[in-house]
Amino acid sequence: GMSSVAFIGAGVMGRPMIANLRKSGFSVKAFDLSPVAVENLRSDGVEVAETLADAVEGVDAIVTMLPDTPHVQSVLLGDGGIGNILPSGMLVIDMSTISASGIQAIGEQLAKNGVELLDAPVSGGVKGAIGGTLSIMCGGSDVAFERAQPVLSAMGTTITHAGKLGMGQVFKMCNQLMVGVHIQAMCEAFALCRAQGADLDLLRNTLMGGAAASWMLENLGPQVIAKDDSAGFRIDLQLKDLRLAGEAAFEKGLALPGLAMATALYLEARAHGEGSNGNQAMFRTYDRLTNQ
Ligand code: NAD
Repeated sequence: GMSSVAFIGAGVMGRPMIANLRKSGFSVKAFDLSPVAVENLRSDGVEVAETLADAVEGVDAIVTMLPDTPHVQSVLLGDGGIGNILPSGMLVIDMSTISASGIQAIGEQLAKNGVELLDAPVSGGVKGAIGGTLSIMCGGSDVAFERAQPVLSAMGTTITHAGKLGMGQVFKMCNQLMVGVHIQAMCEAFALCRAQGADLDLLRNTLMGGAAASWMLENLGPQVIAKDDSAGFRIDLQLKDLRLAGEAAFEKGLALPGLAMATALYLEARAHGEGSNGNQAMFRTYDRLTNQ
């Protein structure tokens, strides 16, 4: 059975995900390059490995939760990476948001050694990571998806098999595209409402009861109205995800003007030094555009 997990990447998301794995009875060996992350793990009572090789020694499965494609490539295939030391039959679950073609290429390399890879990016933010209520979008073989169930259900409540390897990332990029466009729609409507001198709280409550209701309006609307730019999900990470969606669209020659526009607005925010703000802080861009 599945009882021990190596967890690589214990940042904002990884740390609470490790806590939930342990709560479900898994023994976890963690590894992270950052001294702050290591200190946090120690204070949580988590066993911290000194090297990647130590982390994966003797475990039943490996979870990676890293920033972007190059980090996952480096951990799994780079010099000092673990790709060549894993026993045949090992299951690797990458939960980072990275490129779909990138994870497919990594999977082809690992398959040469009999290692199975599942891509399993998540939605639900830090709140979902802490609560163990993440929506997890998986790509890979039926066998890999089944084997991963005990591990995934310790961290999430909605677990979807989107298709072959990379399709979890495809679902996730669609999610992020809609997140960007929905935030843009909300910020734009609020800018119009404010300029006309009408009440934003009342607007939000009214729209929540009709066809323009959205998760963004419900959860991030109050922060936008209060001009609260704190993160949450940082604009830098949102831009990374929109870039991944844009690259995937470009690969297929697709014109996706909504995606392009949301991306440009976030680039404007980052150009003003606002990359560490929460993604709801696109309202600052609209403040500038509308001189409010
Ligand atoms: P983070 O930057 O807080 O954590 C990443 C961790 O990986 C860091 O602690 C870093 O030190 C570590 N790391 C980097 N390279 C490493 C290496 N070679 N070996 C070991 N450790 C390494 O990021 P996060 O917010 O936890 O996000 C992780 C992934 O999840 C990203 O792809 C992100 O887009 C995605 N995601 C984040 C959220 C969110 O709300 N933060 C929500 C959904 C998905």
